[in-house]
Amino acid sequence: MAKKEKRFCSFCGAPENESNILLDGLSANICENCVQTANEILYKIKGNKRKDNIKFKFEKKPLEIKEFLDKYIIGQEEAKKVISVAVYNHYKRIKYYEERHEDDVEIEKSNIILIGETGTGKTLLASTIAKLLDVPFCIADATVFTQAGYVGEDVESILSRLLQAANYNVDKAEKGIVFIDEIDKIARKSDNPSITRDVSGEGVQQALLKLLEGSIVNVPPEGGRKHPEQQFIQVNTKNILFIAGGAFDGIEKKIASRLNTKIIGYKKKGDHVSDEDMLKHITSQDIRSYGLIPEICGRFPVITHLTSLDEEALKRILLEPKNALIKQYIKLLEIDKINLKFDDDAIVAIVNKSIELKLGARGLRTIIEKIMTDAMFDFPSSTQKKLHITKNYVDDKLSIIN
Ligand code: ADP
Repeated sequence: MAKKEKRFCSFCGAPENESNILLDGLSANICENCVQTANEILYKIKGNKRKDNIKFKFEKKPLEIKEFLDKYIIGQEEAKKVISVAVYNHYKRIKYYEERHEDDVEIEKSNIILIGETGTGKTLLASTIAKLLDVPFCIADATVFTQAGYVGEDVESILSRLLQAANYNVDKAEKGIVFIDEIDKIARKSDNPSITRDVSGEGVQQALLKLLEGSIVNVPPEGGRKHPEQQFIQVNTKNILFIAGGAFDGIEKKIASRLNTKIIGYKKKGDHVSDEDMLKHITSQDIRSYGLIPEICGRFPVITHLTSLDEEALKRILLEPKNALIKQYIKLLEIDKINLKFDDDAIVAIVNKSIELKLGARGLRTIIEKIMTDAMFDFPSSTQKKLHITKNYVDDKLSIIN
């Protein structure tokens, strides 16, 4: 009997076998890996412009959105409330335009600016909203972008990231959420211009405006700098929700000086208003005097602030959220049948270390890692099944960090 001739993929040369199926063409074969690769290339070149027109099914009311945020974010009541309303309105607006073709009343987008020190939960808020909505989400750092013609990335690459998060499905990306971090760092300054970098930030703000205005943008699939021979994917930004965050260091002074001019008439002299209280009064006008151009301010109609986290809040962050760090470590060790317990004063010691190092909530993870590494190394191969973390244990492990 004649031996069956071995067949190969005409594209990559891989042989046909049990784990590699070959499809026949007229005078060539293609293997499943090459089909997949070809598919990905097409996605990237053309975008997945399937006209399946996914209708947005989001029924949650602001109260339910806030309840979801409460599971992950400690404190920040005002910000959670404001963001719940803004997100509710945003997706209601999308539904309104999906169902109506005539634009009788134009509902504007509710892009949001979150103001608060680093590590207060701005990114967490934005990513938790995306998780709830199950929409593509990406984070972009405003400081890496520069005006076209300067060294750096084009702002359009923000949308490349969103496309990647949406697996190149343009329909999905067009209803996603973009978090732009450190927006305050592109505020207009009167610094010296540089030849290699647009330090004034104004050029970046102008470029960003194009995305915020709700236009069709040519997006380089791989991000970075656009170049003429490149294929672009067209993305309409009309329904993308932009959330920007920034510390806006010193903005309290701008608020104070604006308020003072008005307050004088009815507020007693000598009244003390803390920085935190001051932030409650923030308006678009203050962001504008901080150096964001008026057009950008106009595109972020929702402004709210996050408060700094005190010892009590940091303790709650360690223990309470659905994915709280302590819960995660307990779960991790439980898988190895190890019982992990933290004393209350051990938790306080961790929190205080983070405060001392000025790391806020962001530092908690690094500190716990330091405390747990030795135990996580030794315990899985030991017969000991109980790990009790006391304050002394914490102090001992942390004595080497300053
Ligand atoms: P920001 O964007 O304001 O700099 P992040 O949202 O990145 O801060 O916060 C850093 C980390 O700190 C988060 O991953 C989260 O674990 C924790 N965190 C910060 N604020 C909170 C909060 N209010 N509730 C729960 N966790 C928080």
